[in-house]
Amino acid sequence: MIKEKLATIKKNIPSNVTLVAVSKTKPNELIEEAYNSGQRIFGENKAQELKNKAEVLPKDIEWHFIGHIQRNKVKYIAPYASLIHSIDSIKLLAEVNKQGLKNNRIINCLLQFYIATEETKFGLSLEEAEELLTSIEFLNLKNIKIVGVMGMASFINNEAQLRNEFIRLKNIFTQLNNNFFKHTETFQTISMGMSGDYKIAIEEGSTMIRVGSAIFGNRN
Ligand SMILES: *Cc1c(COP(=O)(O)O)cnc(C)c1O
Repeated sequence: MIKEKLATIKKNIPSNVTLVAVSKTKPNELIEEAYNSGQRIFGENKAQELKNKAEVLPKDIEWHFIGHIQRNKVKYIAPYASLIHSIDSIKLLAEVNKQGLKNNRIINCLLQFYIATEETKFGLSLEEAEELLTSIEFLNLKNIKIVGVMGMASFINNEAQLRNEFIRLKNIFTQLNNNFFKHTETFQTISMGMSGDYKIAIEEGSTMIRVGSAIFGNRN
């Protein structure tokens, strides 16, 4: 079942788009099922849950952290996370850097942007990101690497609005790339698109989609 769902999604996305299988709340057995059909990248949104899963599941899994995280929980994911999608402040980034140093690694991160019209979504504005990227504190962080941007569109069924939100994130990516990362080849990820909207997100330039329920079924 999971195998067929993965195959269908893979068939429908271009080869330059990375699929993150969002396994939050799902048991290890289902993750293993996806793993056995070839999936290696999984997304979690709770620090302790990511840690627990990473400790027992195959070591060649790439764990992505996709949720809002409190600074005091970064230590749980620092040894395992290959990409943190949800950086929304310099304070959080400094803590990731600190834990990266402790674990002797450079942790890849995405800046999360606020692109939805809903009040509840987390993320930076373009101005806040520019302030972060020009701060002295940021320039001194050696154990993190900013490799792109992430955004969550509104949870709605309006295609035109979704498209606009994705276009906004693509534009933010382009501006940051021109102004801060022109000579940084590793700045190339645009993480946008979930089960309900990934096709539109890809049309608007997504390079990484985060898909949960379309693979693993609905969450309780
Ligand atoms: C849960 C989650 C997803 C996956 O959502 P689905 O609709 O199940 O595909 C993607 N991104 C983030 C940040 C999430 O929290």
